[in-house]
Amino acid sequence: MMAEGFTASGVAIAVDPIRILDELCTHFVEHSTVKRDGDQVSLEMTIGKAEIRQEGRKLAIELSCKSARALQNVRSVLAEHLFQFAGEDALELAWSDAPKADRLPDLREIRVVGARNISPHMRRVTIACEDTRHFAHGGLHFRLLIPPKGRTPIWPKLRSDGRIEWAKDEDALTVRIYTFRSVDLERGEIDIDFVLHEGENMPGTEWAVNATPGDIAGALGPGGGGVPDAAAMILAGDEAALPAISRIAAEVPAETHLRIFLEVDGPAEELPVPSAATVDLTWMHRNGAPAGTMGLIESAIKTALSNADADTFVWAGCERSEAKRIRDFLKTERGHDRHKMSIGAYWERSI
Ligand SMILES: Cc1cc2nc3c(=O)[nH]c(=O)nc-3n(C[C@H](O)[C@H](O)[C@H](O)COP(=O)(O)OP(=O)(O)OC[C@H]3O[C@@H](n4cnc5c(N)ncnc54)[C@H](O)[C@@H]3O)c2cc1C
Repeated sequence: MMAEGFTASGVAIAVDPIRILDELCTHFVEHSTVKRDGDQVSLEMTIGKAEIRQEGRKLAIELSCKSARALQNVRSVLAEHLFQFAGEDALELAWSDAPKADRLPDLREIRVVGARNISPHMRRVTIACEDTRHFAHGGLHFRLLIPPKGRTPIWPKLRSDGRIEWAKDEDALTVRIYTFRSVDLERGEIDIDFVLHEGENMPGTEWAVNATPGDIAGALGPGGGGVPDAAAMILAGDEAALPAISRIAAEVPAETHLRIFLEVDGPAEELPVPSAATVDLTWMHRNGAPAGTMGLIESAIKTALSNADADTFVWAGCERSEAKRIRDFLKTERGHDRHKMSIGAYWERSI
């Protein structure tokens, strides 16, 4: 692969670089295409590529990405994992073009302007920020940073080694991933749809339930995949993926063919999914069974693929173990082109 437009070189000096390489390869299999040739590793992600070569105690790193934002994200992700896998051992990490230690370029303070339930278990929170345009392109998702109650938020900063420095202890932020359901540039407002799911200690849901005009939080993004570029798509997911599926349906060109499978508890949770595309939408009901236990999304995808052509893009967002089964099926049994799929673990059932 040719180096893409935005590049950076780094050097990590580690106590046990081979173990770090091993751990990187194991971890990144789920998130990228991993190729290893002895002491040389390449990690190819949708947003860019990292090539890492081990020489003695040194790991020489070359990053290449399509945009400055992607480069920043790949560098942060890699830096975090290098330190994570070094564990207690010392690690020195330096970049040729070190990021300026500063506030994160993708971070914006957001302010709640309204909140209402749009179905019994889906709550729409509308937020505003200084620069909504920043969130309109470059990925559908973001990290919601929830400040501790009653404290002035201390937002994360970028460190010169590429890692993100987070406030600790009583200032620690709680982080959850959500989707920008829609971005209204004229009004300068963004809708975020929160599933009011079952569970205990669920700060994301609680933030949405209590959201009151004037509340402040942070949004770090956008990122995590955009609207797929394909003539035919299968989109499948549960309530947590409903905002992303609705946004994709709203943004694809009119000539697209969409087969959409949405798992919700029952008819009261069904929401309109407006689209200019040709849409064949199937609602699947759990009828009181717990989310993530029925395998409805996996079955729907398998059935839909039995009469779909090889170019069909398969997109899914659901509970972690179901997402893994779908990914395994597509890769192993069906041999589906990995560039024509995006299967996300949106949440994880506690046992
Ligand atoms: C790319 C991406 C985009 C996402 N977009 C959205 C979005 O737009 N809207 C949205 O609501 N969610 C979305 N999610 C899912 C959301 O991040 C998780 O559901 C998250 O766990 C919610 O945080 P919490 O604090 O409410 O619960 P947590 O503290 O994370 O979990 C507490 C317990 O609640 C249960 N739980 C968590 N999530 C769910 C769920 N969705 N359904 C049933 N039980 C659950 C689990 O058993 C868990 O142990 C997205 C996830 C990803 C990866």
